[in-house]
Formats: sequence, C-alpha cells, structure tokens
Amino acid sequence: MRRLSPVRKRVLFRLSFLDRQTSIIGSGRPIPRLPLEGNIDLTYRCNCNCRHCWLRLPANHPSAKRELPFDEIGRIVGEARAMGCRKWLISGGEPMLRPDFGDIFDMITHRSLPYSLNTNGTLITPAIARLLKRKGAKMVALYGATAETHDHITRTPGSFAATMQGFAYLREAKTGFIVQLIPMRDNYREFDAMTRLARSLSPVYRVGAPWLYLSACRSAVRNREISRQRLNPADVIHLDPPDATDDDERITAAEADDKPPARLQPGEENRLFAACIDGCRDFHIDPYGGMTFCCFVKDPALRYNLRKGSFRRAWDDFIPSLADKVQGDPGYEENCGRCEQREDCRWCPAYGYLEHGRYSAKVAYLCALADEARSYRENWQHHHRRYFRIADITIRVDSDLPFTEKTFDPKFKKFEAAGPSEEMISLRHHFEQPAFDRDDMGQEVYRRAPWAIYRKDRSWIYLGIGPGRRDNTIYGAAVFNEGHTRGRIYNPSEALFRQGKLHALTMFPSDQILLARALADRQACFIHAAGMDIGGKGLLLVGHSGAGKTTAARMLRKQGEVLCDDRIIVRRRPEGLRIHGTWSHGELPDVSAGSAPLSAIIFLEKADANRLVPVTKGIETARLLAQHVVKSLVTADWWEKILTLIENMAQEVPAYRLQFDKSGRINDTIGKLL
Ligand code: SF4
Ligand code: SF4
Ligand code: SF4
Repeated sequence: MRRLSPVRKRVLFRLSFLDRQTSIIGSGRPIPRLPLEGNIDLTYRCNCNCRHCWLRLPANHPSAKRELPFDEIGRIVGEARAMGCRKWLISGGEPMLRPDFGDIFDMITHRSLPYSLNTNGTLITPAIARLLKRKGAKMVALYGATAETHDHITRTPGSFAATMQGFAYLREAKTGFIVQLIPMRDNYREFDAMTRLARSLSPVYRVGAPWLYLSACRSAVRNREISRQRLNPADVIHLDPPDATDDDERITAAEADDKPPARLQPGEENRLFAACIDGCRDFHIDPYGGMTFCCFVKDPALRYNLRKGSFRRAWDDFIPSLADKVQGDPGYEENCGRCEQREDCRWCPAYGYLEHGRYSAKVAYLCALADEARSYRENWQHHHRRYFRIADITIRVDSDLPFTEKTFDPKFKKFEAAGPSEEMISLRHHFEQPAFDRDDMGQEVYRRAPWAIYRKDRSWIYLGIGPGRRDNTIYGAAVFNEGHTRGRIYNPSEALFRQGKLHALTMFPSDQILLARALADRQACFIHAAGMDIGGKGLLLVGHSGAGKTTAARMLRKQGEVLCDDRIIVRRRPEGLRIHGTWSHGELPDVSAGSAPLSAIIFLEKADANRLVPVTKGIETARLLAQHVVKSLVTADWWEKILTLIENMAQEVPAYRLQFDKSGRINDTIGKLL
C-alpha cells in the first residue's frame, strides 16, 4: 500500500489550534514519551502488482513463512496496549491476503480502539465488510476511473471489477469507507474522472501522496518503473499545494513543544533522525516483527526484532538509541544539510535512503518539487496575502480567494504594510462551510445573536447565529487561538468577498471582536472616542454615539490630524501611553494609521456654552473610561487587564469634561490645553 502523507478531506475544519498538543493542558508538563499510535504491515505480499508499488511481493512469495503469526501479533499488540498504544494503522501489501486477516483485525480492534486500514479492496467479502463496520477509517485504493486504466496500473486483469465489488459489499453492509485516489503518470489524464467516480462511491475521498518513492529492494527494473510513473512537479504541486500560510503556525507549534519541528532545519545538527525520534509518539512494525519509529525506514539495521525481545525494550531502549546512529556524511552538509529550500522540500533521510541507499543523499526529484513549491508559495502569497498595521501590530490576512485592489474598502490603504513585524496577528479566510459536529465544539460560553461562542481546549470558536431560537442556521464560523492572534474564518459564501469594499479584515461586522482580546494582552484597548494629533499631542475625545465625537473632530481637523472619529486604540508603549488611529470611523471618513502620545482625556458633553472642566479625581476618570471601553467577549482575565490599563490612564493623564455648543468655538477652549 502507498502511505499517505498529506491527507486532504473534502472539507477541512480545524476546531482547535492544539492539533499538535504535546503538553498536558494547564499543567505545562510535556506529555510523556508514549507509543500512542502503532502502524503494522501484516504482509508485503499482494494480489496486485502496481507499477508504482515500493513494497509489493508476489502473493505466493515464500516470505509468507516468516510473517508474524497471529499469536505473536497478539502478544505485541497486548504489550503495546499496556504501554499506552490506543490506535492502529493496519496495512500491507494487501493485508486481506492473509487467511487470518479477520482474526487479526478483530483482535486489534475488539476493544473499540480507533484504527485505520489500507486495502486495495479486491478481497473484501460480505463477512469482512460486516466486520469492518467497527468505527475506523477504511481506505480503499483507486488507481483509475476505468477498468482499462486501473488494471493497467495494477498489472492485474480483473482488479478494477474486484475493487468495485469490494465497494459494493461495503455499501451493502452500510460500512463507511474512504476512497484513496492514487495519482501517477499513467492515470493522471483521467484524474478528474477518478475524482468523480470516488465521489459517486463515497462521501469521503482523499488524494494519496502524489510523489512516489523508490523501493528499498533496489531492483533497477522496479525503480525504473516507479520513476517513470512520477508526475511532473507542477502536477504534484497542483494536487498537493504547500500550505503557504503555515509559517507562523509551524513556529508557534515548535515553540509550544519547546523542541524543533520534525524536519531538520538548514544548518541544524547532523544526527539525521534525532528530530523524528524525539517527537515520535508512533511506531512501525513490519510483517516479520521488525520495529522502528517510521514506516519509511526500511534499513534492517534500524529495526528491532520483536521476536527476540519485548515491545518495551524496542520502545524504551532501541528506538531512542537510533537518534545517534545515523549521521550526515560530508555530502549532506553541502546539500540537504544547508539547503535553503528545505522548508519547501519533502526530503527526509528515509527518502534519501530509498532513492540512493544513502541517508544523506539528496533526491533530484524532490529538488524539482521544492523549486515548484517555492514558486507556488511566492505566487500564492503575492495574490492571496495582505498585511495591515494598526497600533504597531501587523495583521496578516490570507485568503483562499485572491485579493484584488477592490477587496477592501479604501480606508484600509493607510494601514497597508509591506510585510511582517515583531507583533503579528494572522487571519485566514476560507470559503467553505465546514461540517459542524455539535458534540465537538467544547463548552458554550456565550449565546446571543449574532454570535454563539465556544471554548474548546485553548481555542475559541465563534458561530454566526440568527436571533430565532429555532433557527439553526450557521452564518459563518471562526476559530481563534487562546490569545486571538491566529484565526481561521469560515465564510459562508464567496459573494461578499468578490463584491469587495469590505469594511472589516475579518469580514465580521467589525474587527473589534478580534482585536479587543488581542489588544488586552498588549496593554491596549479600544475606546469609544475620536482622536486628534495636534502638534504631536494626542487628544482622546471620549463619548458614546451622539456625544459629538464627529462634530468635535470636524471642528478640530484644521488644527491637526484626525486619527479617527469613532474608535481609538490606547496602548501603553515603553515611552508612555499613546493613542492610535483605527479604520473604524464614524461619519468622518478621515482615518490615520498614525499615533500620538496621549496628552489629554476629554469627555464630551453637549451644552449651551464652551467650557473645559477638569476631572480631578482619578477614580472618576477611570469610571468614565470603563464605560467607554469597547467590549467584545468579556472574561474576568480580560477585564482585569483592561482595568489596569484604564487606572494607569487615569493616574498619568489629565482628564476634562468638555462642554461644548454648536458654535464651533471649541478650538480656543482646546487650545488652552496644548
Ligand atoms: S495494491 Fe498495489 S500498491 Fe497496494 S500493496 Fe498491492 S501492489 Fe502495492
Ligand atoms: S524518517 Fe522521514 S518520514 Fe519518517 S518520521 Fe522522519 S522525517 Fe518523517
Ligand atoms: S532534496 Fe534538494 S531541495 Fe530538498 S533539501 Fe535536499 S538539496 Fe534541498
């Protein structure tokens, strides 16, 4: 069977930013190194003979005698379970070629352990189809849209018909399955038809890794055929585009783990498998009882013989010892070890070994893929990524649809930035309505139209809801991390985006729902206020709707720069408190990305005369400010941060009540402050 590195479901919905959770929530303690997930290949024999196959042995190959018997597998599974293993991937060869497949499958899965199973589907019987009803992922490979193509790939006449029969048995038994599309040169011309066929067979399909690795058996004939089946780099990238948006997620995940990402980084240490083993929570067992940390590692010297020793020994002693065993050779330092393309490259030492029999070897095909991936990434970022800066924070906005000049309202022009900065927020727009699993949303913490908000692990899930109690329609969704610095936004349709002139980067009614939380962590908040920069002094003109913020800003605009007439960000910076312009304006379209030191807080009050009355008590200033803070999702920790900030403002900055009439003569009154 072909292993599938990138899995692409039809709908991708990440409900949590903790996919790679490696610490126990709340404790900060790392999860112990446990063998949580087992991969077991029951046989390398197969009744098909696929052109791309890197593993296959003939069905009647004498190696059958060396395969682990049922009892031995039972012992190993039991030992692994005792050490924590809770999930199995069962594969081959064709695992159902073993006459005791049903017993083995039953034994591995009978305690309701989650599992996944790879098969070519040709040997599924009604009895097996019923057995497979147990909850788990059944992945059945499809090599062509027609019998002609499928059988050409498998070099086995009748295999397409047998696979279709297998699908029919699964459907009869009402056993769900995933169709795995395996693309290669000889079937790629009908790949769209394969996709249509997959859709007609099952609601879920996936595309297998579209690059092919050579066989460790080093047969020249076999490897020549595998090479011939490799797709052009552009086709590989088309099928499996790199995630051009994941830069900061990778970094954050690595930081959270407090260890390097699984792949070695350019110029890093010379122990080629150290990172793999360090982060490893899974293991692989071959049909003969050889165990190691990864299914791609085929070198017998890197496999522990479970027939001669215990699973515990293999996991606790043998696998960790491999971290030091394979070092890069001098050529490694000159190629992959120092390669700047590494982030875009799928290279790993195991592929080097499969390709050239040397762990340090670079793989020319992967170099070509990396080139293609890089140009894809650059091109994608050019069209699908924009940066904006507000209050010294850069918001990176990525979108599945390309941006145009008209996507955002012109007010955002002044906030555009060329690239990232130290403080980043990243947003990603998707235009696919995810499948919601109400049981997997975590705890509901807020429900009032237009939002229902859930807390799951350390993520926040926002669902757009209607006002009616019985209205279950979801009008979009968003998932943010703990600090609201990373968000995925699932828009219900493309129409609004394509229409353009968007008033919010989030495509919510306002961006404040996102920013209000992220700001609190940065000693900052939104205030219902107009802001002016007059001669380098910042005036905060505070008031709710109708208090005269726009009127006051209009009257003062000749004297200085309007930062905004409706929402201002106040932020503590090392040099003191500053006010920052925002794009959330009122009637006055003047906005500015500028900022100024906060020199005076002025509470607006409409009156019959123009008067400036000092607010002498700090507590009074703080109380008035608290009334004018923009609130989104209010939690105790958020309030605590905001109250600290406004108390500081009240202590450090003079405050006034500005009573003003319609005459426009506030300039003189304000002038006394400057
Ligand atoms: S079905 Fe094809 S790819 Fe899978 S194990 Fe058999 S020969 Fe290999
Ligand atoms: S050897 Fe390669 S495929 Fe296996 S875990 Fe390491 S990086 Fe991943
Ligand atoms: S295979 Fe090529 S592109 Fe990839 S890391 Fe090695 S030298 Fe760089």
